[in-house]
Amino acid sequence: MSIKFRPEIKDLVPYKPGKPIEDVKREYGLTEVIKLASNENPLGSSPKAKEAIRKCLEELYLYPDGNITDLRDALAKKFNIKSSQVLPSSGSDEMVDIIAKTFINPGDEVILADVTFPRYLTTTKMMGGTPVIVPLKDFTYDLEGIKSKITDKTQLIWLCNPNNPTGTMFTEKTLIEFLDAVPKNIVVVYDEAYIEYVTRDDYPKDSIALLDKYPNILLLRTFSKIYGLAALRVGYTMASEEIITNLNKVRGPFNVNTLAQAAAIAALDDEEFIKKSYDINVEGKEYLYKAFEEMGIQYAPSETNHIFLDSKKDCQEVFTALQKKGMIIRPMYGTFIRVSIGTMAENRRFIELLKELL
Ligand SMILES: *Cc1c(COP(=O)(O)O)cnc(C)c1O
Repeated sequence: MSIKFRPEIKDLVPYKPGKPIEDVKREYGLTEVIKLASNENPLGSSPKAKEAIRKCLEELYLYPDGNITDLRDALAKKFNIKSSQVLPSSGSDEMVDIIAKTFINPGDEVILADVTFPRYLTTTKMMGGTPVIVPLKDFTYDLEGIKSKITDKTQLIWLCNPNNPTGTMFTEKTLIEFLDAVPKNIVVVYDEAYIEYVTRDDYPKDSIALLDKYPNILLLRTFSKIYGLAALRVGYTMASEEIITNLNKVRGPFNVNTLAQAAAIAALDDEEFIKKSYDINVEGKEYLYKAFEEMGIQYAPSETNHIFLDSKKDCQEVFTALQKKGMIIRPMYGTFIRVSIGTMAENRRFIELLKELL
């Protein structure tokens, strides 16, 4: 007799995070290591958020506010929606999980892209859903392709715009045409983790306005990227009151910790930090594009804080070679790698090492 794991768990693979700096230092005896592997903010965190955390240090023995009231109110105020239309979570990672638990039944068809945020697939399988995979087209979400896969069994669609890891986006017009065509009983999860970095005008900047018209859409955002709070684990979703009420039943009781709640509220208003983070990203992106062009390297145009590029060498080989020299990037598949946009010094160092290597 032996214990039985749920069959849905059998083929799942653990998430593979970007390699931590300390691991690489230890492995290769390096003192200086640059990590451009996890799309973290190269400027660190909002100083206002750090100050807010210091003020919480005397409260560590207390449970967090289980209703997350102040953060929900702050988000509602900022985005001009009701507090009952927003729900924070322990990173938007956790929200992906909560959404899967709330909506996906065994055998439900769930549509997603082939090269996108890996948790969509993992949580779909975990719940026994049937993944229906639609390949990207020119490294971009193919909404026509996704639409053509909708059947009577379709329960949920995962969208990521701009997409991780390719950095590419689809337009507001494309999104609206898609939402108009999707039956309203199908849940559309719209992950906009990188919305604050987008530079193009035809991007759906005002996604919140969609909530009024499409009761089946959920917007996912995070404090891990431009707000620089990845260590704290805090993200949020916005949707109809009905959806939020149901997600709220599924989440854990104290899923957003006290420090995360306080820091997120402070970071939300730190416009100076957001602006600086945006600017340094634009500058870095332009520098990297130019360097890639000079080197004859193909890349996908990015609306995020990372770039997907063809190194023309085996990505694992490139990953290991760069790592030995103190640079951590993310190998993707084939000859493709993803690099986060860093400070200008980090970007220059990356190009220097890449030139040596190729
Ligand atoms: C980084 C990222 C997230 C956010 O992750 P957190 O759990 O909030 O740190 C969500 N979706 C995508 C596509 C991402 O790249």
